[in-house]
Amino acid sequence: MDACQLCGGIDVEPRPRETALACLPPGSGVVRCQGCGLQFASPQVMPTYEADYYHSFGRYSADHVTHMQRLFRGRLERLARVAPRGRLLDVGCAEGLFMTEARARGWNVAGLELSKWASEQARERGFDVRQGSVDDADFPPRSFAVIHMSHVLEHLPRPVTSLRKLRSWLAPKGVLALEVPYEFYDLGEGLLALLGRPRPAKPSSASHFFFFSPRTLSACLERAAFRPLTVRTPRDPYIVRHPAKRLVFRAVGMAERMLRRGPVIEALARPIDGAGA
Ligand SMILES: [Zn+2]
Repeated sequence: MDACQLCGGIDVEPRPRETALACLPPGSGVVRCQGCGLQFASPQVMPTYEADYYHSFGRYSADHVTHMQRLFRGRLERLARVAPRGRLLDVGCAEGLFMTEARARGWNVAGLELSKWASEQARERGFDVRQGSVDDADFPPRSFAVIHMSHVLEHLPRPVTSLRKLRSWLAPKGVLALEVPYEFYDLGEGLLALLGRPRPAKPSSASHFFFFSPRTLSACLERAAFRPLTVRTPRDPYIVRHPAKRLVFRAVGMAERMLRRGPVIEALARPIDGAGA
């Protein structure tokens, strides 16, 4: 049995409902640490990312791209209020959509990307991108004002260790911006389940090792010597064309924000002074 990466505990309980929803590989299941509540896949079965996993990014619909642009613009506005100006690193930058928005707002951007194909795409768009993982990469200490990492942390085998590495690359007053999925509990899908539509199983979760909540994500950040500034669970402004649906969508989104039960978790965090890199 794997020890908990957050508290070191070895007392875990199986979570059959979450295991069924997460579509994990055979032999692996979701467990919850009794000590701290962190949920994770045990054992960790390393996925092989087929080339197609990344090529699928190139098939996003125009609406999806517009949605992502809105989301990133909002995040960059929030970042501009709390982060010093300087270099911005996007970890898991894919083909460079976030970097495009950041560059348009005056950031000096760089990217880190595991996929050879996606990193080449980003370079063709004129971005400075290194190919590799967080755990293999090395940047000079304190070299970035902002590090952005969206939908990566849940794939990493040692998230607290990886967060400490990101902290070593951040300037002392720099800001880390994280987004992870908030799986199994979002209010919107819960309401649909009440109306008789079961929660859909998520094959996309099969490659996730960690299933964070706002509380356990904050605890991981603190353990890596970050101080969370804001932790939100937004339902992002998806494009909904039907007016009645749009009203329902807005109402659910508002309830999710208030109850902290949205589909994703966004955290902004700053290195704790004097914790050392
Ligand atoms: Zn624990």
